[in-house]
Amino acid sequence: MIASERAEDLQKLRHTAAHVLAYAVQDLFPEAKPTIGPAIENGFYYDFDRKEPFTPDDLGRLETRMREIVAANFEMTGREVSRAGAIEHFKDNPYKVELASDIPEGEPITLYTIGDFTDLCRGGHAHTTGEIRALKLLSVAGAYWRGDEHKPQLQRIYGTAFPEQAELDAYVEFLAEAERRDHRKLGRDLGLFSIEEDAGGGLVFWHPNGTVIRSIVENFIREGLRERGYQPVVTPHIVHEKLYEISGHLENFSASMFGPIEVEGQRFRLKPMNCPGHILIYRSELHSYRDLPLRFSEFGTVYRFERSGTLHGLTRVRGFTQDDAHLFCTPEQLQYEFEQTVEEALRLMRAFNFDDFEYFLSTREQRGPTDEIAEAAIRGALEKYNLPYQIDEGGGAFYGPKLDINLHDAIGRKWQLGTVQVDFVLPERFDLKYRGSDGADHRPVMIHRALAGSMERFFGVLIEHFGGNFPVWLAPVQAVVVPISEHQLDYAYEVRDQLRERGFRVEADVSNEKLGYKIRHWKTQKLPYILVVGKSELADRTVSVNERGLPDGEKRAPITVAAFADELTTRVNQKN
Ligand SMILES: [Zn+2]
Ligand SMILES: [Zn+2]
Repeated sequence: MIASERAEDLQKLRHTAAHVLAYAVQDLFPEAKPTIGPAIENGFYYDFDRKEPFTPDDLGRLETRMREIVAANFEMTGREVSRAGAIEHFKDNPYKVELASDIPEGEPITLYTIGDFTDLCRGGHAHTTGEIRALKLLSVAGAYWRGDEHKPQLQRIYGTAFPEQAELDAYVEFLAEAERRDHRKLGRDLGLFSIEEDAGGGLVFWHPNGTVIRSIVENFIREGLRERGYQPVVTPHIVHEKLYEISGHLENFSASMFGPIEVEGQRFRLKPMNCPGHILIYRSELHSYRDLPLRFSEFGTVYRFERSGTLHGLTRVRGFTQDDAHLFCTPEQLQYEFEQTVEEALRLMRAFNFDDFEYFLSTREQRGPTDEIAEAAIRGALEKYNLPYQIDEGGGAFYGPKLDINLHDAIGRKWQLGTVQVDFVLPERFDLKYRGSDGADHRPVMIHRALAGSMERFFGVLIEHFGGNFPVWLAPVQAVVVPISEHQLDYAYEVRDQLRERGFRVEADVSNEKLGYKIRHWKTQKLPYILVVGKSELADRTVSVNERGLPDGEKRAPITVAAFADELTTRVNQKN
């Protein structure tokens, strides 16, 4: 069976499971009013209007009843009815009446039945309930009728279904693994970052351990920028609103911007993007074609409004720092500069252990005469490196088409990170110029590029990708020295200091806890190395190495501190 057919069958199966859920709810909670129940990616949901909240216990009972309905192997039968017939059938359920009333004139209105349960539905089902060989209810969440917060609040029951039990088992295991890797949980457990209610949602506080990792990521990026001839700039976090009027952000992007801040009758805005600032720096001097390309880079912090209900850990926030850069070049230089950014994106992703990417060329809805040139540059760069890509029609930025790079993490989840955009619009709006070899003024082209994307989001993905087991070059603490008794305290400090002198991040645990307790503690902190020092290690000037990832009880022979430092050096150099 081809993949798309299987996907379609799975969708039919899951949508049928939503009917089965509504059937079970009708039997066990007859006061609940079913509304809609579609299949979604990875499962299905059904929204119900019911005063009492569904409890985990209720979900268990519903699951049991669903299994009975599946075992009864009811046939799914459909029939067409008149609008009046449908409204009469659902007269006690205002939601279904509304849905039936809204079906456009001339479209068939159909009812589908399994056993004693009939639903208003346009179809797309499995033939029988028995085809669902495996199902599970996952959670309950709040939802609004038709997604509108001014309409009644409903309860959404999420579930999933598969044609085989083994597939469900694998999916449940995947969910458990995703939960173990959840960056919000690991962020707390490993002291990486926090989001403080008192400071408002969506604003990230980077703790020392998280900041160490961020600095390593930033340094890695800076090194690449320096090698490729980028120049660092810094721009203000708050600027006059006028700037965003000129740039078009106020017109095209204001829903994502924080409101104005008024002082002395002037309106200021928190910056939602770094581009206008970099443009002002470009515009403040005269440029000759000999100066181009100019490449300005900034770890630029931006602020964007997101509804509180959509905020999520580090991946959906209101303030974040982009590894942003803007290139100003001649149209002839566009293709080469674009290629360079793609090459740099690959260097970055590979260094952080990602190897599975997807590329999307997003075109603009309202195409202008320059879009063709821009799209050709993007295509040319992708083709140069033999990178297969898909087209996202209309997904471009308001000022031009773009390339989006998605990656898959260690457990196969997809994340959108880097983006490279070609822009002929902002140079026009800001009247940017360079003096050509012909002595006349010309318009430069801009490339906007952020390769990690947002430092916050990138960090969130890194935490989940590694499951908190950061490789040695990233680990905030690379090793801890643990003395067996008080007689080795001085030696523990000595080992720590020797390793610190070689540039490593090392601690000594001289607390009064028992050795077993200390080792367990540092293992939960996911340290790459725990170095145990006792009587013999002190006498031999060695350390016993307890390495993360080795099976329990497997011991390595003691090695000298110098030999251990060499091992660290190798791993840091190999970014492993
Ligand atoms: Zn249906
Ligand atoms: Zn930009």
